[in-house]
Amino acid sequence: MAKIFCIANQKGGVGKTTTTVNLAASLAKIKQRVLLVDLDPQGNATMGCGINKSQMKVTIYQVLLGLFDVKNVRQKAACGSFDVLPANRELAGAEVEMVKLRNRENRLRLALTKVTDDYDFILIDCPPALSMLTLNGLCSAHGVIIPMQCEYFALEGLSDLVNTIKKVHANLNRDLEVIGLLRVMFDPRITLAQQVSEQLERHFGDKVFKTLIPRNVRLAEAPSYGMPGVSFDPSSKGALAYAAFASEMVDRIKK
Ligand code: ATP
Ligand code: MG
Repeated sequence: MAKIFCIANQKGGVGKTTTTVNLAASLAKIKQRVLLVDLDPQGNATMGCGINKSQMKVTIYQVLLGLFDVKNVRQKAACGSFDVLPANRELAGAEVEMVKLRNRENRLRLALTKVTDDYDFILIDCPPALSMLTLNGLCSAHGVIIPMQCEYFALEGLSDLVNTIKKVHANLNRDLEVIGLLRVMFDPRITLAQQVSEQLERHFGDKVFKTLIPRNVRLAEAPSYGMPGVSFDPSSKGALAYAAFASEMVDRIKK
């Protein structure tokens, strides 16, 4: 049975997609069976896995509306090591169309039940909003991974997200918990980054992953080649950090 994790933060551009794609590829490298679910109409994770989002006729959109089965929509990432449930801009319409459907926050959860035996990990890349799509992600998952940059406004947004997770836990999904906070795009030369990082450790203790993901240009370059950073340049600092993070994740969920 797959363990299902959302990579979520309603703040934009904080490294959700980079984390999802590189964690998927790193877990695959250590022989885990992985499905990456792109739950963002931007389709960045889809493109980052080397799948052309604009040429797709069926995506997660049809899955959420109950028109297609995940098994008929998933594809192999270009690197070949994990599966992807792709998305494109059509998914933006689902937000509106799901309003009239019964059980609308559970559409993704129900769809994924058909493939949970095929994987060890299902990773869901959420859009930058606390929307119906993100709610579907949170209702499907056992846990949330929160990537964040160590800067002042990051802490402000964090309390909104943690409150939403608490509400979902209380009312919709008793399995849901915060697995951990992942510090990304970290630059140790910046004093504020160090201060915020220490503040996070004091406040959240063990919930902060030990692995720090550094700011590394190779991670930013990789998507334009349709590859995860860990495959594009495996010896880069960013790739090594994501590989370490994957091991830390595996250890953390064993506990
Ligand atoms: P959105 O909220 O729009 O979905 P996101 O949270 O998914 O954004 P990403 O798309 O992963 O964020 O990252 C935002 C930008 O930062 C991208 O250009 C990405 O390549 C770059 N980036 C992410 N992580 C790193 C890193 N560790 N080092 C350098 N650049 C990074
Ligand atoms: Mg993204």
